[in-house]
Amino acid sequence: MDKQVLDELKALLLKERTDLEENLARIARPVDKEKGDYETTFGEVGTDREDNTTEVEEYTDNLPVEVTLEKKLQDIISALERMEKGTYGLCENCQKEIDIERLRANPSAKTCIKC
Ligand SMILES: [Zn+2]
Repeated sequence: MDKQVLDELKALLLKERTDLEENLARIARPVDKEKGDYETTFGEVGTDREDNTTEVEEYTDNLPVEVTLEKKLQDIISALERMEKGTYGLCENCQKEIDIERLRANPSAKTCIKC
């Protein structure tokens, strides 16, 4: 892959990682930031029964969001790792090069359009 294109995609990945980390920081705390491992935080609104209900509701709302963001973040981290190893841009399934336009739209794509 062209070095210039690679740099461009790397910049996209790094920006996306920063955005995801910021969003995650609002609802979760990092367990292992390098690996993109986060844990949904359980907010302490108060101690009476109503407050506890709010806390549980918030947690229940945040959990699936946290899981989705965490998964995206891990995809990005693994894409950055593939860049380091020089295997970035190859389809995980058929080992063929993934179309550049597809990578521009989704820099953490692991498979080509056909797969
Ligand atoms: Zn493929």
